[in-house]
Amino acid sequence: MTRAHLYTFTRSEELMDRARKVIPSGIYGHQSPTMLTFGAYPKFLARGQGCRIWDVDGNEYIDFMCSYGPIVLGHHHPKVEEAAMAQHAQADCQNFPSEKWVELAELLVSITPAADWAVFAKNGSDVTSWALAVARAYTGRDKVIMAQGAYHGTHPWCVPIPTGIPAAERALVATFQYNDLESLKRVVAENKGQVAAIIVNAFRHDLLHDEEMPAPGFLEGVRALCDQEGIVLVIDDVRAGFRLNLGGSWEPYGVRPDLICYCKAIANGYPLAAGLGREELRRMAESVFFTGSYWTAAVPMAASIATINTLREEDGIEHMRRMGQRFRDGMDQQARSLGIEITQSGPPAIPFLTFKKDAGFERSRLFCGEAARRGVFLHPHHNWFLMTAHTERDIDQALGATDEAFKVVKEQFGG
Ligand code: PMP
Repeated sequence: MTRAHLYTFTRSEELMDRARKVIPSGIYGHQSPTMLTFGAYPKFLARGQGCRIWDVDGNEYIDFMCSYGPIVLGHHHPKVEEAAMAQHAQADCQNFPSEKWVELAELLVSITPAADWAVFAKNGSDVTSWALAVARAYTGRDKVIMAQGAYHGTHPWCVPIPTGIPAAERALVATFQYNDLESLKRVVAENKGQVAAIIVNAFRHDLLHDEEMPAPGFLEGVRALCDQEGIVLVIDDVRAGFRLNLGGSWEPYGVRPDLICYCKAIANGYPLAAGLGREELRRMAESVFFTGSYWTAAVPMAASIATINTLREEDGIEHMRRMGQRFRDGMDQQARSLGIEITQSGPPAIPFLTFKKDAGFERSRLFCGEAARRGVFLHPHHNWFLMTAHTERDIDQALGATDEAFKVVKEQFGG
């Protein structure tokens, strides 16, 4: 595609002008346009099908953000839509849960070696905060430890920008450096006998940072420390769950957490979160008050069952890994041939790319903006996602756009 074909966003801008008048910031939170390259992205989307999305101006993109994680099979996936619509024809939000409540819990427990039971909610933040409550009830302790810079949601204890949050809300949270077991041991020792939970992301995927997989021995060390000190180990698998391993993202490491937090990919875009736990914590899970107006709704649960079964039947995890690797290999070669130094990090199904010598992320913003204007939706600051709908042809088409985007970076920055 030549520069003559670059996208324009007239309708998006009109909607944004209207939004700003009636909605603070127009669009807020992680989808705020301030997070993206100015002038290169739409602000509103119209529809999605498979790995393609269309904005309100009719521009088409190959989607590598997957709605920031939830879309794992593809937009509007026929099997998921069929299951959701069949449930919808019966009922969604009722006085009691539907049969799907039981069926989904049985399915999750059957595929998750670390878990004996499951609870449901709507957002990732619901279940990360719930996990801490269960851990506190179980241990009779108040403090919790998380990795510095990790994201666990928007509740007061962890929201990354604490505007409007009293300091007292954060006083019980201590931090350590991800992959640095000594720093964790130090924090535990400083809070000896007071730590209820250690909560850790499946791997390090902080904003504006290369991803880091668990270092050899790190997860085992965290597990041993928790066992030794009577601390509950929580994996926040909200972002990585159902993309790396169907039984939980730490299963390949042979490390089992006490509580698992899921959301995002669990229902291919339908609103659902789940907390899973091991038998010993069941009684405390029964004692923690946990509920919400929509938490028993049946349509997302039907969608979730169809999503998980389809991932399993089609070996979706391996497909995403292969497509992610193809994308990564292609970009590696493109950057190398232009003499541009990049870092590609994380698992292939949840990849991220940064430029060396790019402290201010200017190269990243230019690169992702140029890709967006050529129909490939990446993000300059946040990790990307693969979905099973990505085919080799889609990846190769996306590589056509990244090749041109790298060339623009070369032109402007010289490498
Ligand atoms: N934990 C992680 C690792 C996440 O990525 C997110 C969402 N980005 C959350 C928790 C919070 O989930 P939600 O936005 O659904 O509350």
